[in-house]
Amino acid sequence: MKFNELSLQPEILEALDDMGYEEMTPIQEAAIPAILEGKDVVGTAETGSGKTGACGVPLVQMVDPSLHEVQALILVPTRELAQQYVAELADIARHTGVRPFAMFGGFDMGIQRAKLKDRVHILVATPGRLIDFMWNHSLPLNHIRTLVLDEADEMLKMGFVENVDFIFSCVLHECQTLLFSATMPKEVRRLADSYLKDPLRIELNKDQVAPQSLEHHFQYISAREREHALETYLAETEIEQAIVFVNSRAGGGRLYRALQKQFDSIDYIQGGLEQAQRTSIFNRFRKKQVRLLVATDVAGRGLDFSHVSHVINFEWPQSDESYTHRTGRAGRMGRSGTAITFVTDRDLNTLWRVLEANRIEPIWRGDKPPAGAGTKKPGGNRSGGRRGGPKPSSRSRSRK
Ligand code: AMP
Repeated sequence: MKFNELSLQPEILEALDDMGYEEMTPIQEAAIPAILEGKDVVGTAETGSGKTGACGVPLVQMVDPSLHEVQALILVPTRELAQQYVAELADIARHTGVRPFAMFGGFDMGIQRAKLKDRVHILVATPGRLIDFMWNHSLPLNHIRTLVLDEADEMLKMGFVENVDFIFSCVLHECQTLLFSATMPKEVRRLADSYLKDPLRIELNKDQVAPQSLEHHFQYISAREREHALETYLAETEIEQAIVFVNSRAGGGRLYRALQKQFDSIDYIQGGLEQAQRTSIFNRFRKKQVRLLVATDVAGRGLDFSHVSHVINFEWPQSDESYTHRTGRAGRMGRSGTAITFVTDRDLNTLWRVLEANRIEPIWRGDKPPAGAGTKKPGGNRSGGRRGGPKPSSRSRSRK
């Protein structure tokens, strides 16, 4: 179904056209008409499903720009998500008078307060900073008509449950509530049952959420050839943009310095950086000013990197879900993508489990692990010598 089949304001349709949105994604098709009718919605949806637009389009349509008050409040777990959400809202609202604003911790409260006074219609906020404002009575809640809880499971995992309960309980009048979560653990279900009235339930199966245009490649190596294997891969492969995931800050730093000697347009993001630095790196990566981004898992969850052509697991991720979270960054919206993961003997037990659980068909670059490898007593293969894998090509590896 196309956006122009909905009765949206021409200014919104024009913006969607500018953004290249024509067909709705499954979650948009299900959620937008219901939200416009004023229904509560609870949706199982991940980043990449188009859930930001599923909320953003009807919110921009429903807000009255002539009323200079916050009319929709969106709660998100992280600052990066708040910024990403507002960027999309601003795009959708660009030909209307509707103004969205992101409010999060680690940023001057005085500036945020001034901004709030200067006409904000849709507020996207992280729970902690929002509560600071509520305590100071600097955020009027009486015009809020729609409340959105995004990435509810992540929010609760980060320990925001009491904050979320507190915020919901402060909005005393009747409000439309929309709740989105990648998974539905008990605590998220409790939130939905306590605050939503006869909601429309949208459950998209994974295939609809993330079209499986992603190829899962693996290369079996020994730990000591890891770096060389990655450099060879980067030199031999046509890569538009890649995220290279590492498991530790120190290891990531070492890898970043080594890669910098050979490749241009590379950056490194990890949780220890100042917020301003992280934002600037994310933004440059999103604008494709950076081609290779070495990242710890800070970049693995929630953020939209749908344009990324390659997700590279330099190291096997530390938890089973991490593999799907990391690789879920590519191959979205029908775009094709490749995940390549370097695995050693010690990763194989978990690898087989993850492949089976997610019905992933592995494509091996070089030799497959021999039968029995990775079981408690690996048979041989501890030499650290080169184990299969294509030889470095004759093409020049140096990009610097
Ligand atoms: P989200 O799940 O909201 O983070 O969206 C994932 C990506 O899909 C973002 O890059 C959006 O800009 C893009 N997107 C969302 N809706 C559509 C649509 N209807 N058509 C094309 N791209 C879309």
